[in-house]
Amino acid sequence: MSLSKLNNLYRQVILDHAQHPKHHGTLASSTNYSEMRNPTCGDVMKIQLQIEDNTIKDIAFSGSGCTISQASASMMADAVIGKSTTEADQMIQSFSDLITDENEVDQNAREQLSDAAILEDVKQFPARIKCATLAWKSLHLALENTEATND
Ligand code: ZN
Repeated sequence: MSLSKLNNLYRQVILDHAQHPKHHGTLASSTNYSEMRNPTCGDVMKIQLQIEDNTIKDIAFSGSGCTISQASASMMADAVIGKSTTEADQMIQSFSDLITDENEVDQNAREQLSDAAILEDVKQFPARIKCATLAWKSLHLALENTEATND
């Protein structure tokens, strides 16, 4: 996609996350893991979670991919760390609703998504929606499975 079509502020936030991703790397110990691919773009997303007392105590992502997929993973990780698994499930749904326009997303849900809410504009570029949703789908898979892979 042509990032230049996004407004400048949003583009800068996306580039900052992609160039200086938060929670990028691996955890020494983790309770949950997932790996997913977006074949249309070649993005690979690996997510590790450390869950204690139904709370995401720590999260790390690795893999490789385009600017949107990497920025989305950084935004997602930043938004869900410290949240309960129930809250994380709600945020996964909110992000999906935001990108697909299937359901209205209220202001509270947007604020909970934090920077990730910016990626709503990616829906203007249907080919890149899977890049934006990959991190959230991977989080969903990781929450459900102590260890899982998915193509
Ligand atoms: Zn991509």
